[in-house]
Amino acid sequence: MSLPDDATPWHDPTRLLHGDAGLGDDSAVSPPIHYSATFKARDAAEFAEMAGTPRHAAYYTRYGNPTHERVAAILAALEGTETAMLTASGMGAISTTVLALVQAGDHVVAQGRHYMSTAKLFDEVLPRFGVQVTIVEQTDLAALEAALRPETRLIMLESPANPTLVLTDLAAVAALARPRGILTIADNTFASPINQKPHALGIDVVVHSATKSLGGHHDLTAGAVCCSQALAERIWPMHITLGSVLSPMDAWLLLRGLRTLAVRMERMNANALALAQWLEAQPQVERVWYPGLPSHPQHALAQRQMQGHGPVVALALRGGYEQTSRFVASLQLATHAVSLGGVETLIVHAAAMWGGLMSEAQMASTGIQPNFVRLAVGLEHIDDLKRDFGRALQQV
Ligand SMILES: *Cc1c(COP(=O)(O)O)cnc(C)c1O
Repeated sequence: MSLPDDATPWHDPTRLLHGDAGLGDDSAVSPPIHYSATFKARDAAEFAEMAGTPRHAAYYTRYGNPTHERVAAILAALEGTETAMLTASGMGAISTTVLALVQAGDHVVAQGRHYMSTAKLFDEVLPRFGVQVTIVEQTDLAALEAALRPETRLIMLESPANPTLVLTDLAAVAALARPRGILTIADNTFASPINQKPHALGIDVVVHSATKSLGGHHDLTAGAVCCSQALAERIWPMHITLGSVLSPMDAWLLLRGLRTLAVRMERMNANALALAQWLEAQPQVERVWYPGLPSHPQHALAQRQMQGHGPVVALALRGGYEQTSRFVASLQLATHAVSLGGVETLIVHAAAMWGGLMSEAQMASTGIQPNFVRLAVGLEHIDDLKRDFGRALQQV
């Protein structure tokens, strides 16, 4: 993205609107959707040039697409990386990046808590291909340092992480990894680049589920990888091999969603903090987890590495499975659905996934808290959210 005349960088809300300026050769104010799988060459020389250019934006859509290029330019500007690549989902971004950067005999470190499918990649998939994995509790930097070996190639991070929004000190981990030549990847989905910029803290690769706050409307599935040109050149060949290709339509919806990311995040941050504070004061609530609350065990770290605390709030009610179930069912403004970062508020009663299969005693023995819910706060008016939650808490 070009800089303003005095070379001071634009602010994020401006980058979201103008970060793709100059890309595409048309005069439409709203960018076109390049709904084409393939792109023509005018002559043999141009065809050779297209075929031989890595990540060409208009050769074949699995390799690149002009609509992808616009989105990628904005995401790279937001994350402060040289470039960005899009994938068909967040898991497409994570699995492609990790598989591109390791080989048999390597050792990698991942966190105790990761998004469920990321955990599966490290627990089950990598060991099948001869990569050794050590899982470390992410708040324990000494354990992380002790886990590093001469053959450690990669550290996978995610902050804040499910289910209780545990944070990882990204700058501290980067400081351990960089001098040893170990690459770091951070999943920045829960925070979004408006609230946290891992690359500025020393992280090499920032990955996203763009399905969440970046898209912001619970309509598309997409992923992104933000990194240096040199790393992109290592990751891209794996991308075209695995083929996690974002459809041009979803890239366009993502572009449209991104234009309002800054204002949406501002409101989600404010709503989530206000609701978390209010919930903490309710007698039916046993505990609230939110990095923006002084009661969060890592609140000081949150203040240091985040500019806002994101849409996800976790809470435990005073009561068991039945009471929690009744609470979730009585909410009118929070929809019982997975995902986060979209315009409407969502809620997940984690134990309900197993509610039909396990008794409360069985849940307790496997560590599933029957009274635990996760909220992804949306853009409803805060007074209406409090009113709705207040009414539903009366049912507990
Ligand atoms: C949703 C999510 C993913 C996976 O993203 P998909 O787009 O569903 O593939 C990865 N990491 C985090 C933190 C997520 O919330």
